[in-house]
Amino acid sequence: MSKTPFVTKEKIDEIVLHYPTPFHIYDEKGMIENVKNLYKAFSWNKGYKEFFAVKANANPFIVKKLMEYGCGCDCSSLTELMLSRAVGATGDDIMFSSNDTPEEEFDFCCKLGGIINLDDITHIAAVERSCGRLPERMSCRFNPGGVFTLSNGIMDNPGDAKYGMTEEQIFESFRIMKEKGVKEFGLHSFLCSNTVSSEYYPILSKILFELAVKLKNELDVKITFINLSGGVGVPYRPEEEKSDIFAIGEGVRKVYEEILVPEGMGDVAIYTELGRYMLAPYGGLVTKVINEKHTHKEYIGVDACAVNLMRPAMYGAYHHVTVLGKENEPETETYDVVGSLCENNDKFAIDRKLPKIEIGDYLFIHDTGAHGFAMGYNYNGKLKSAEILLKEDGSFELIRRAETPKDYFATFDCFAVYNEMIKL
Ligand SMILES: *Cc1c(COP(=O)(O)O)cnc(C)c1O
Repeated sequence: MSKTPFVTKEKIDEIVLHYPTPFHIYDEKGMIENVKNLYKAFSWNKGYKEFFAVKANANPFIVKKLMEYGCGCDCSSLTELMLSRAVGATGDDIMFSSNDTPEEEFDFCCKLGGIINLDDITHIAAVERSCGRLPERMSCRFNPGGVFTLSNGIMDNPGDAKYGMTEEQIFESFRIMKEKGVKEFGLHSFLCSNTVSSEYYPILSKILFELAVKLKNELDVKITFINLSGGVGVPYRPEEEKSDIFAIGEGVRKVYEEILVPEGMGDVAIYTELGRYMLAPYGGLVTKVINEKHTHKEYIGVDACAVNLMRPAMYGAYHHVTVLGKENEPETETYDVVGSLCENNDKFAIDRKLPKIEIGDYLFIHDTGAHGFAMGYNYNGKLKSAEILLKEDGSFELIRRAETPKDYFATFDCFAVYNEMIKL
């Protein structure tokens, strides 16, 4: 089984004439098709809205493109709020699902009119202090604790997660906020990451819908939305199945009809905050082979490294690799594909079966559209790469230039060092 890149070797040969590797490239066509299908899958819910998790890919062109198709922005920091604002997001387009939040960031969110999704009960007072008073619409993040298991054995550990409030705290928060004049409430929870199971959203919905009914009945509060957050996964490995977004939407609809509608809550809007599902498959890291090394293992050295894509180094995540132009050649070799960081975990692939690679070959590292460039850093003085949009009509556009040494030195007080260097 294999995965096919959304871009051909011929196209990359053309692009590298303008922009050198490494770079992330994004597939506009795939991304648009996907967001349209997501909205179709939830079209049964009148108020449905996806708040794209900006942290997954904070390129303004990408965020703006998703907004054209109805998405809002899910933010968790000051600069993400700024970025969302800069691409045209207004109050109703902004969800602020942060945690360990610096108080002044609440103030900025209030000024934008965004929806604050509280991670902790103590933040009620923080919002009051920061914004002057509570906004009329507030949301809370729920953490049921314990272990969360799906029938296929996929498990996550909410009890160990730093996020969200206990059920008791949610009740207490709603009570306090109602007293202080909040009129519309939302509920949010994130229990399982990157699951391609169609069960996850429906099971999460059941938990949140039942809690919403209890809150409404016991506290007489108006719940206007339920936010299922992120977590819908993508198949990183070729043998994995895709998430079936229509089955997921239908599964949520059934639970909605069963639990909310009989309670007169058929007007509750469903929100999502997907990141990975929106973009991971529609991005790839293109990198050139610059070295090969034969010691105790066979190494292929490329011009990208973990600063461009951290997931393999950080959590041993699998990313499929295609040698462009050698898609149909037999996988006769076993390689470690490595970057140049002075860290032995800087490996994009370990013991990977691949066709025979030569210096100068271009590798396409799949599924980097989410949590790819966005997780970048500058370790070893490495610079962040460019980002390129492959447009629907086949043309390409630079949507972020690569960093230069000047960018790297820009935050040093001894900026003069850079000015001296470039004279050498
Ligand atoms: C990371 C995150 C998301 C997006 O998660 P994905 O797994 O990329 O879908 C959504 N909401 C919150 C609060 C997050 O932290």
